[in-house]
Amino acid sequence: MTMKIPTKLFLNGKWRDAASGGTLKLINPTTEELLGEVAAGDEGDIEAAVSGAQRAYETSWRDLAPGRRTEILFRLAALLREHLEELAELEMRNIGKPISDARDEVGLGARIFEYYAGAVTKFYGQTIPVARGGYDFAIPQPLGVIAAIVPWNFPFPIACWKVAPALATGNCVVLKPASLSPLTALRLGELGAEAGLPEGVLQVVPGAGGKAGEALILHPLVRKISFTGSTAVGSRLMELAARGIKPVGLELGGKSPNIVFADADIDQAAATSPMSVFANTGQDCCARSRVFVERPAFERFVEQFTAATFKLAVGDPAKAETQLGPLVSAQQKRVVEEYLSTTEKGRHKVLGQDGASLPKKGFFLPPKIVLGCEPEDKIWREEIFGPVVCIRPFDSEEAMLAEVNASPYGLSGSLWTNDLRRALRVASRVESGVLSINSHSSVHVETPFGGFKQSGFGRDHGMKAMESFTEIKNIYIAP
Ligand code: NAP
Repeated sequence: MTMKIPTKLFLNGKWRDAASGGTLKLINPTTEELLGEVAAGDEGDIEAAVSGAQRAYETSWRDLAPGRRTEILFRLAALLREHLEELAELEMRNIGKPISDARDEVGLGARIFEYYAGAVTKFYGQTIPVARGGYDFAIPQPLGVIAAIVPWNFPFPIACWKVAPALATGNCVVLKPASLSPLTALRLGELGAEAGLPEGVLQVVPGAGGKAGEALILHPLVRKISFTGSTAVGSRLMELAARGIKPVGLELGGKSPNIVFADADIDQAAATSPMSVFANTGQDCCARSRVFVERPAFERFVEQFTAATFKLAVGDPAKAETQLGPLVSAQQKRVVEEYLSTTEKGRHKVLGQDGASLPKKGFFLPPKIVLGCEPEDKIWREEIFGPVVCIRPFDSEEAMLAEVNASPYGLSGSLWTNDLRRALRVASRVESGVLSINSHSSVHVETPFGGFKQSGFGRDHGMKAMESFTEIKNIYIAP
């Protein structure tokens, strides 16, 4: 298998250097060695990308027969499957993602394109019986050029879940990947062209958020910004978008709860919960990093959770059995270490692997469990984005819910109980966009995904994503 490392921007169907000649250096987080350099776009490249996308929108994509759009998106899904190994290896080397997860994520990307390829001809408007008579219909129309700005933790699937519904509804997209993880996004652009996307329909421009990202948000021809990333950048993005009255979709940070009642299947909850927070080395917006356990089950749960955590395979992401690879960068490792340094001897108890067997090179950190947290502790309140979990006991449902909802975030969560009434009562009270009962599965191509409160607004996935990339036009015909 040949693995090609992209080095340029993908603009108007061709590889291009950045106008300024600037580049981003990519470090392999497993080896700490230089993986490659990629062109870094700025204002000039964004101008070329957006105007090219607008041209493509007006001349080729907006008015293409829906059936033809379906064919191209299915063809792209097939190409992603053909290139699954290559894309997975690219992701693994770029951000240290375990190869088995990287394969799953490329497969997910292909499924996303299949879902939206099929959705093109199943997404339609309404006719409305207007009181004065006549004929009225409301139809969804594309917006034009969409800016998709994505993070580094799930670079490939998140890019796919923005690009696929935006293209399916007739928009063109300028995709700005995170500076740490541009490689699979660039290959997506190239494979899109191979699948038959006309030039300019999907532009991929890596570049610094403060330059390329802001230029993209502010460009007058960009009609919507679909963003996944941190709450701080989401807030800045809203300010910039407000200048042009542009709609935004924001998928932001999280500090999600995992609530375990004493009547639950404790063995199953404890065995599966470690990977609900430590998967992707904890760099997951849905990480269940605050665990609430009803007091009678607390000791048993902690004992089993800790035992399962000790068994996690941390190490070389190239090995099929590895479950946790390195953190994405030296900076991210420092951030996590700083959070761990706020724990106090005597008050907190820190359990978990000691890291003695970890490779000497690479940004590795072993998973850690913190007991004895109080609600005001930084480590309990803030998103860490690393392999750290806090577990606390609770005595009453009301008090637990108050603490769960005290978080400014509200993205995801899990709830474990065998009492159906309690499950439904508590699920309806937790302030989060998604919640799983007796499961940790919360991201499905078919179902709406997004947050409450400072975890953002708008929904990715399912038919809600198709709605989010369209505007309704109402047309009335006199009788
Ligand atoms: P980030 O720092 O907010 O960056 C996200 C994207 O925004 C990157 O492409 C970044 O470019 C760009 N950006 C940065 N500053 C910008 C600006 N001023 N204007 C426009 N774009 C700008 O987030 P991250 O560190 O990549 O990802 C981690 C965060 O994403 C976490 O908080 C996590 O919870 C969140 N996340 C949320 C979800 C969800 O679905 N809710 C999913 C995954 C991740 P550069 O890389 O060049 O800075």
